[in-house]
This record gives sequence, structure tokens and C-alpha cells, in this order.
Amino acid sequence: MMKRLLFLAALFVAVFAKKSFKRDQVLRITARDEAQISLLKELSEQGHLGLDFWMEPVHESLPVDVRVPFHSLQAVRAFLAYNQIQYNVMIMDVQNLLDNEERKMVKYRAFPRSTDDFVYTTYHDLKTIYNFMDMLVAENSNLVSKIVIGQSYERRPLNVLKFSTGANRPGIWIDTGIHSREWVTQASGIWFAKKIVTDYGRDPVLTDILNNYDIFLEIVTNPDGFAYTHSSDRMWRKTRKPNPGFSCVGVDPNRNWETGFGGPGSSNDPCSQTFHGPRAHSEPEVKAIVDFVKSHGNLKAFVSIHSYSQMLLYPYGYTSTPAEDQNELHKLARKAISKLRSLYNTRYRYGSIINTIYQASGGTIDWTYNQGIKYSYTFELRDTGRHGFVLPANQIVPTAEETWLALMVIMEHTKNNPY
Ligand SMILES: [Zn+2]
Repeated sequence: MMKRLLFLAALFVAVFAKKSFKRDQVLRITARDEAQISLLKELSEQGHLGLDFWMEPVHESLPVDVRVPFHSLQAVRAFLAYNQIQYNVMIMDVQNLLDNEERKMVKYRAFPRSTDDFVYTTYHDLKTIYNFMDMLVAENSNLVSKIVIGQSYERRPLNVLKFSTGANRPGIWIDTGIHSREWVTQASGIWFAKKIVTDYGRDPVLTDILNNYDIFLEIVTNPDGFAYTHSSDRMWRKTRKPNPGFSCVGVDPNRNWETGFGGPGSSNDPCSQTFHGPRAHSEPEVKAIVDFVKSHGNLKAFVSIHSYSQMLLYPYGYTSTPAEDQNELHKLARKAISKLRSLYNTRYRYGSIINTIYQASGGTIDWTYNQGIKYSYTFELRDTGRHGFVLPANQIVPTAEETWLALMVIMEHTKNNPY
């Protein structure tokens, strides 16, 4: 009997306990040359270490950020020292940051009765965000509606807010949170939604945009992953679909698109953070957007928002062949990030994905660009690694505000340059 109780207790902990990151550290590693990058790639393949690369080793010009579980710290430090690879500690104790985040969430856990009551300066769970959407629609039914473009693997609705002032308009798409642990993106999406209803009829530029275009905003693009970041593992990035025959769950929804599917910069290992999945569009969260884009048929801009590293990127990621519209996309990106910087002096890098970060195949905006959506962009929001995915909540609103300025530049350019 006792044994059975203990077993049940252990099961309970296994099912309901949140993963702890106590004394896990995030190291920023600076490789000196190609040989050290190769060593780091070998290190990343040591599954038993449980390393979580926040920035993968690709090229010596780019820092490598890796979360090292406490039990692997000694081994990793020894490996780096032995190979004379330089590093410094970016985050001393990941759980410390998460505890701060959690404290603030608990403090502001409430059920706001309106979107004016809503606390934009903290992170929220899925239920609260879905409730926010419903309130926003109820308060602004002349401007906003909610459309459900599909269902996640765990059967959650894939909700998209549609901001529209008339029928048969071309569309602008914005999504946040396709990688579930990038919490500042969903939080920014909430702020954008409120900003749109606040500024329509007041800000002449946004009003003009909305009098000619619909805006579609998917705030929680990977709801299963997002729910999981709250319930079990704050560092979850992928979808939550099991991989038959493997114990590792999930697919990287930003490697699952058809363009360049399975190519360099994506992994065929289901345990990898960049696993591309069994086939293109295998993930219902991706397929829902694919179907929406095709059935809509008239999207003119598509912006997919990630964090972190402060970059504004355009296609391609899967090939070094420049996009046909590279000149225009480049100039517009420069304009957008200089506007962004004007608010809080936040510096962004910009360029094509392959030239600015690294080769990545099967990404969202390569596919949307090849579908004919010229103004296809990806943001990587704050910060540059000091807090990484655990950006303090007091940076949510400033991040959203500055990003909005850049989004407005892209949307206004789209409106002024019909094609
Ligand atoms: Zn991401």
C-alpha cells in the first residue's frame, strides 16, 4: 500500500510539477575560429548534457548562448577550458529570473472586466489572453472580429483577430508566439491589438491604413506550446505533437514550411530544437496559416515576430540567392529600424536571414514571400541576451511601443506601394 502511494505521489509530481531551472546558467560563448565552432557543434550533439542552445553555433562572428543544466555545468566548463574556448556567464541562475517573473504574474493575476482594466505590464496565461481577445471584440465589434483558422494538435482554437472597416480589402498579417517561450512576443501582440482599436479614428496614418487594408493578428500562434510553458516547462519552443517512435515531443514550427523544407539549418532529429517535422506543413498550427494565406489570396504584407536578438529580417533564409525585391526590402527595413530606434535608442541589425543570422530552411517568411507576399519580414525583439527569453516584464510595453513604430513604417509603405 505504502509503495503504491509513493508511486502515485511520484507520478503526481512527474505530471504536474513545473520543471525547475535552479542553478542552470546561460553561458555566452565566443568562438575564435571555425575549429571552435565545430567543437561547439559536437558539444551540442551530446544529448545526455541536456544543453539548450538559445543561439546555435553557426559562425565565429556570432555569439553562442546556451542554457546549461546545473548537473552539466562542470563538464561543460571543463570542455570549454580544455579547448581554450572563451565564455562568460550571462545568467547566473535561470530559476532566479523565472521566480521574479512568476512573482509578478501572481501579483497581477486578476480577471479584468475590460481591456482598459487589463495589465499590459505583466505576462499572462493562455486563458487570460483568449479572454482579452473576446473582451476586445465585444468592446469594438464594429472594428474587430475573431476568426478561428484551425485547431492545434491538442485541439485548442487557433484564434486570429481581424481588424476591418469594410469588405474585400487586401490584408496585412502579423503573428506572435510561434515559438512559445518567446513571451515578450505574445505580450507585445496583446499591446498591438489594444493600440489598433485605440488609434483607429485618432491616428491619421493608422486610420488610413485600416480604411484600405484589413489587419490580421494571431497573438498565440502556438497555443499548445504556450500552455506548456506555463504549466510545465517555461523553456518550451516547439509544438506539442508527439513524434512516433521517439520520446522527444514537438516540431519547430519555424522549420516546418515547404520552402527549402529539410534543408540546411534545420534538423532531422526529433529531439532537436530545430526539428523540421516529418513533412512540410505537418503541424496543424502551420497548416492553418498556409490554408488561410491561400484562401485569402490577397495578403500584401506578412510579419512573423520572434525574440530575441534585435533584428529585422527579410527572405531568404534557405538560400543565398537574393530575393527579387531585396533592394526595396532592405531600404524599408533600414527605415523601420531607424524609426524603432528613435523611441528608446534600441539598436537593431537588419538584412536577409541568411546574411544576418544564418542559413535556416523551412522558415515562415521564405514560404510567404514565395507565395507572392512581397513585404514578408521577421522581427527578433529584445534583448540581445542579457535576459534572453526571460525578458523582465517591465520591458514589455517599451518593446511593444518601439516595435509598433517599425510595424507602422512597414504597413504604411505597403499601403503606399500597391502591387
Ligand atoms: Zn523564435
